[in-house]
Amino acid sequence: MTAKSPPAKPKGQDFLNTKSHGSYGALLFHPDWKTKRKEILQRDMHRCVHCRSDKDLQVHHRQYHFIASEQKFRLPWEYPGHLLITLCESCHNKGHNKYKVPTITI
Ligand SMILES: [Zn+2]
Ligand SMILES: [Zn+2]
Repeated sequence: MTAKSPPAKPKGQDFLNTKSHGSYGALLFHPDWKTKRKEILQRDMHRCVHCRSDKDLQVHHRQYHFIASEQKFRLPWEYPGHLLITLCESCHNKGHNKYKVPTITI
């Protein structure tokens, strides 16, 4: 980061740019995320919503929310269930290569 970087970049953006999504890095080991993840996996009956595989399942965020009033991103487990879906690793990676997860300022 140099002094010339554009100022528009909100704080916390960096962890969204890590390559191997799951994206939140250390936060993915947070107990609250484990609980949320389990909840979503159960709802989707432990199957990828795209190919129905039950291997290497991951929970994907369909949107990221930037909370304007707090100038920070919403924590992974604070998203409503309809924004989280179960994908197998392969569909997850394909999805991320194809689409950019929209970041919404709330
Ligand atoms: Zn799949
Ligand atoms: Zn994802």
